[in-house]
Amino acid sequence: MTFRASVLTLYPDMFPGPLGTSLAGRALDTGKWSLDTTNIRDFAIDKHRTVDDTPAGGGAGMVLRCDVLAAAIDSVADGRPILAMSPRGAPLTQGRVRDFVAGEGAIILCGRFEGFDERIFEARAVEPVSIGDYILSGGELGAMVLLDACVRLLPGVMGAPDSGVDESFETGLLEHPHYTRPQEWEGRTIPEVLRSGDHAKIAAWRKARAIEDTRLRRPDLYERHGGVSQASPSGARQRDEGRSK
Ligand code: SAH
Repeated sequence: MTFRASVLTLYPDMFPGPLGTSLAGRALDTGKWSLDTTNIRDFAIDKHRTVDDTPAGGGAGMVLRCDVLAAAIDSVADGRPILAMSPRGAPLTQGRVRDFVAGEGAIILCGRFEGFDERIFEARAVEPVSIGDYILSGGELGAMVLLDACVRLLPGVMGAPDSGVDESFETGLLEHPHYTRPQEWEGRTIPEVLRSGDHAKIAAWRKARAIEDTRLRRPDLYERHGGVSQASPSGARQRDEGRSK
């Protein structure tokens, strides 16, 4: 079954953009997913092809009209979830990405200006999705982020079937750090344990580093994962990342 993405945007030329290269591009070429774009402007009702209007209540900027948005949505709606890129949505998570990938695809609305007339959300069961706590100039890059995250999880897109399973967030923690040759570079060495060939010791080290790095960089994730009770032996980082003399 192909994962079908339909993007509603005022800038269809932005697609596939980066989604046409590398892993996502190859998957697109081989039919593992499909992408179509709809220009929201094609659904404008007046002769000037207006898609926006001034905010009710006053203030800066323009708001995308709900009647125009609804007509654009209705032209592609077929039961797939309808998402709208918006900083007012819940931030996207790996769990949510997995939910989307389990379905048939998604319809994604890209905002511009001040965003969407709020009535569209209830009227068409649109779910707002944020890609983080900052403001983009438009939803297109957000839609690409969402789709990139989905596509790499589709069957047959990544090399090994389990190559996604211990990435950051999949376990509730950041992933452990990685190293590769050369063994010594600018006086810095790869942690000795990774060259030991002792798989149990390597797994324990990786787990400890995943926990430690999560505690230091993402206290929010660390707390959710169980906090202090699962902490690594303190000082793991300093011991393992010593610089050779
Ligand atoms: N006035 C809005 C921001 C509008 S930014 C507010 O303060 O909430 C214009 C468009 O960019 C939005 O409609 C949305 O589609 C997109 N956008 C901006 N930031 C985003 C984010 N963090 N996540 C997803 N989409 C975003």
